[in-house]
Amino acid sequence: MKRRLTLHVPREAVHQPLTYRLAVDFDVAAKILRAQVAPNQSGTMVVELSGDIDELDAAEAWLERQGLRLDRAPDQIRVDPQRCVDCGLCSSVCPSGALAFAAPSWRLQFHAERCLVCEQCIPSCPFEAISLGLDQRVPATIQLSAPPT
Ligand code: SF4
Ligand code: SF4
Repeated sequence: MKRRLTLHVPREAVHQPLTYRLAVDFDVAAKILRAQVAPNQSGTMVVELSGDIDELDAAEAWLERQGLRLDRAPDQIRVDPQRCVDCGLCSSVCPSGALAFAAPSWRLQFHAERCLVCEQCIPSCPFEAISLGLDQRVPATIQLSAPPT
């Protein structure tokens, strides 16, 4: 199974080979979706962990013992339909197809289950319609604006 977490890494743990230890000690693969970690500073990473449920539980417990704070409700991309004009700029930079257009409306659709939370779309929007938030109520796929009548 997979779990997506936000890891808040304290300064003293920044130099640890966390993903290596997860793989070797717990058989958990860690895919880093986003990282803001500078040398000798605390940092934040969004990761997707893959493994058996017992291994994931053990890996999370180990991370917490290393001083990391785990946020199990990680940031999610949100698109404001009031600001979006369906220009398509964001979908052209999205590496996963989470932002896409489809017939018959050809309006922007956000497929949350495909989103890597890489944030590349945020600066691409000239209308500041895309932001990062903690809204767990976002459905897997939402139609951002109603088709023309
Ligand atoms: S955060 Fe990345 S993957 Fe998610 S919608 Fe934006 S560009 Fe696509
Ligand atoms: S770049 Fe902004 S306005 Fe254009 S489609 Fe994406 S969210 Fe909508």
